Amino acid sequence: MARFIFVTGGVVSSLGKGLSSASLAYLLQSRGYKVRLRKLDPYLNIDPGTMSPFQHGEVYVTDDGSETDLDLGHYERFSGVSAKSSDNITTGKIYNDVLLKERKGKYLGKTVQVIPHITDRIKEFIKKDSSKEDFVICEIGGIVGDIESLPFIEAIRQFANDVKKKNALFIHLTLVPYLKSSDEIKTKPTQHSVKELRSIGVQPDIIICRSERSIPLEHRKKISLFCNVDIKNVIETVDVKTIYEAPISFHKEKLDIQVLDYFKLRSKKPVNLKPWKKITKIILNTKKQVNIAIIGKYVELKDAYKSLDEALIHGGIKNNVKVNLVRIDSEKLKISDIKSKLKDISGILIPGGFGKRGTNGKIEAIKYARNNKIPFFGICFGMQMAIIEFARNELNIRNATSSEFDKKGLPIVGLINQWKKDGKIIKGTDKYLGGTMRLGSYDAKLKEKSLISKIYGKNFIKERHRHRYEVNINYKDRFEKKGMTFSGLSPDRVLPEIVELENHPWFIGVQFHPEFKSRPLSPHPLFSSFIKASKNHR
Ligand code: GLN
Repeated sequence: MARFIFVTGGVVSSLGKGLSSASLAYLLQSRGYKVRLRKLDPYLNIDPGTMSPFQHGEVYVTDDGSETDLDLGHYERFSGVSAKSSDNITTGKIYNDVLLKERKGKYLGKTVQVIPHITDRIKEFIKKDSSKEDFVICEIGGIVGDIESLPFIEAIRQFANDVKKKNALFIHLTLVPYLKSSDEIKTKPTQHSVKELRSIGVQPDIIICRSERSIPLEHRKKISLFCNVDIKNVIETVDVKTIYEAPISFHKEKLDIQVLDYFKLRSKKPVNLKPWKKITKIILNTKKQVNIAIIGKYVELKDAYKSLDEALIHGGIKNNVKVNLVRIDSEKLKISDIKSKLKDISGILIPGGFGKRGTNGKIEAIKYARNNKIPFFGICFGMQMAIIEFARNELNIRNATSSEFDKKGLPIVGLINQWKKDGKIIKGTDKYLGGTMRLGSYDAKLKEKSLISKIYGKNFIKERHRHRYEVNINYKDRFEKKGMTFSGLSPDRVLPEIVELENHPWFIGVQFHPEFKSRPLSPHPLFSSFIKASKNHR
């Protein structure tokens, strides 16, 4: 049976529960164990798919087609294990499942209640499909004390009893602030947070203290005493310079050793930190730099393009170059200042997006990249915009557009709501907006001898999708005559997956999101190639 590790948060959010969980997963894997990571989110949306990136950051897409929390991206990047739909659940989904069951009469005769019905459903989710794992690490979203997270905390309390406490471990991540004015480290918020957790019946076994500076022994002792945790299990995590240093720093603090000790397990092999040390060194010490412009609508929120930012950094690691991400708000990008804004830029990237706002800025930037032979990478909406730009300016179809944001023009990009997957037809619907896009992993066939097939080193790929609109295949010949090749198609040759420009050093648009599959220890070939081209450009 798997052992279960629950990670809760206290004091404030955004302390890095996801990163801590992901780092611990790597360390346990490296010691020879099989690990699965899961996230329980306390909000009422069924999934984050319909939330604005400003609210929730990036929506991460799994191979099997779920829209999930961005922490699943961290999990994949650190553990290398592809996440599944069943690895992320929300309060909304739990209630939805329970209420559907109620309507079907599955609880006939009973009053349906938070305890036991909601908590039972949460416990089912935690345990589902875990028999082959050595460890399941479950991160609880939000912080202890939130009304929303109560049923989750109650469920994990019950769960530890159900599987016997020796098979479940509670880790609580809190903030230990440093007050500059009095030059003091404060443990009180941690004490309060643990008190809150204990009032619901959960005694943490390990406390991870996030702090700006190292926590002196006397403060650790205080936390140990007041929070009833062995001093060895008071673990500090001081801010790291790059997130890829996190596994190294948690290992230094013996987090993995303490976890194995708790379960009375031995390490099957020594931890291998070499790959993280190598990439940390490259990220922190490389002198050569490239500036990559990300032109999008959600540039103000750091997490809105999380996987994309990471994938670009991975491309930098591969090419031994530091990638500076220059975020440009497409809504504010005027034609008149494109030249000055893109002056020191080595590569231009237009990421995924939705809706009309900011499209003009994107289209102008693409035109600039095309005409000035600056490496250009269009992802999903970015590819659709590249198609519209080319149609308008090279094919002379002045009213070329996408039916997503313009019902009057000629929809070169249009709504298609049925797709073929593994020979079967999948139908979309516009009755609901949530979960109805073309989602998850789809195959594409690449044109032989194309730039894209050289980059991948093969002619058949699988990439993750998240979009409702498609480029109309009927325009293929007209585009190709003018030098824009449709170099990747769905296996039935109906859906354009990739376009590339001839007579340009690097101009590629992809209908999918390659960033979801890039990992620091195995950078995605498209990002490696894009950064290489950008590095060579200037
Ligand atoms: N809005 C576009 C579509 O739905 C592109 C989506 C995206 O970039 N992920 O097709």
